Amino acid sequence: MADTIAAISTPPGEGGISVIRVSGADSIGAADRIFSFKGKLKDVPTHTVHYGHVIQPATGERVEEALVTVMRGPRSFTTEDVVEISCHGGIIAVKKVLDLVLEQDVRLAEPGEFTKRAFLNGRIDLAQAEAVIDLIRAKSDRAYKIALRQVEGTLSKQVKQLRHRLVELMAHIEVNIDYPEHDVEEMTNAFIRDKCKEALADLDRLLRTAEQGKILREGIVTAIVGRPNVGKSSLLNALAGESKAIVTDIPGTTRDVIEEYVNLNGIPLKLLDTAGLRETDDIVERIGVERSRSALTDADLIIMVVNRSEPLHEDEKLLIEQVRDKMSIVVLNKSDLPLQADLDYIQARFEPERIVSMSVKEEEGLERLGQAIGGLFFGGQLEMNDMTYVSNVRHIHLLKSAMRSLEEALEAVDGQIPIDMIQIDISRAWEHLGELVGDSAHESLLDQIFSQFCLGK
Ligand code: GDP
Ligand code: ZN
Repeated sequence: MADTIAAISTPPGEGGISVIRVSGADSIGAADRIFSFKGKLKDVPTHTVHYGHVIQPATGERVEEALVTVMRGPRSFTTEDVVEISCHGGIIAVKKVLDLVLEQDVRLAEPGEFTKRAFLNGRIDLAQAEAVIDLIRAKSDRAYKIALRQVEGTLSKQVKQLRHRLVELMAHIEVNIDYPEHDVEEMTNAFIRDKCKEALADLDRLLRTAEQGKILREGIVTAIVGRPNVGKSSLLNALAGESKAIVTDIPGTTRDVIEEYVNLNGIPLKLLDTAGLRETDDIVERIGVERSRSALTDADLIIMVVNRSEPLHEDEKLLIEQVRDKMSIVVLNKSDLPLQADLDYIQARFEPERIVSMSVKEEEGLERLGQAIGGLFFGGQLEMNDMTYVSNVRHIHLLKSAMRSLEEALEAVDGQIPIDMIQIDISRAWEHLGELVGDSAHESLLDQIFSQFCLGK
């Protein structure tokens, strides 16, 4: 049976309290040896909290004041006996307590080891365990919700249902192999074709959420482009909510490429400030700069800023041609000033949903910009409620592999291939899906996945 492990579960640094998590058969015993209160932890009911002192077992000297929570398996995160020691948040205090715990024949947990145990003990499946990683790393509210839904197991549930249907199909084929004299070959082929197509449609639907899931998880890579002095840096700052780029009245003063995650109406944007390129008056030359060009091709979204209080510049007309066929939005900035730009020219080239008039200076219009981006990427229906987003690279890969196997099965059916060969393709699809939920995961894969966790999870 697994040994007892411990780690600091709260983030490093100072905080009000720190929590040390201990899990394993001897977690309660170990805690009893270093914790003094009126009684013994081994006698207390499960899921109770106790006030007392962490002591030096040899001398009885008090080291720390603490609250100790006892959660007996299997009703715990790891399904093992778990003790959580909450003590003062100072780095020294918590380290002292951890050292005492580790002197009790308890081992320091590897990163992700608590979650790994939860998985190995059957408490959660692999997709759920991976979602815990995503939860820890979530960069936006929505990314967090996607991960949370995955921890709850919505993706796993759908994949398991799909696998179940493939098993039924395989059973059906098996009967056919065993009793070929029934001569129902033709009917079976039609049946297999239908079932494979159904499964493929489900896989396709799941995979189509992947693109949106990726965006929500990693952020929309966004380039802000436009002539000098139109307000690119100001927009960046407004989005970032604090001054990350230097704004001046002198064209060409924002020098460094700034990468910043911002959260606009719950949509995470990963901003590339191409304004950080040396801005010259010659925008064509500027676009010619290698980095600028790669920003235009690498970005998921291009926000072209125009100063609407000035006539459109020839360079801007060139830039419009470069961005209009990409995922792009035109910001008509400086709406607090009188209109001078030729709106008709822009409206002839961009749908109304892609044009946002705003004043960065007056902080007016940011929300509409967020809505426009939401509309562009999610067709205005960024509905989280009953949506499962596939967002994990490994999951996407496995879903695609399963799809390929089923496509091969379909081809085999049409190509009059012997039915037991078709069976192999289908069982391969079934195995890929099994890997997703961890039914056939290999040890090394597990180590890889769980090592991505931070300590104490
Ligand atoms: P960039 O060169 O495109 O990065 O432009 P900046 O962000 O540095 O802005 C250039 C100038 O325009 C600064 O003086 C800003 O304060 C000003 N500016 C930016 N947005 C607005 C706006 O909405 N209205 C007005 N009136 N001025 C703005
Ligand atoms: Zn700038």
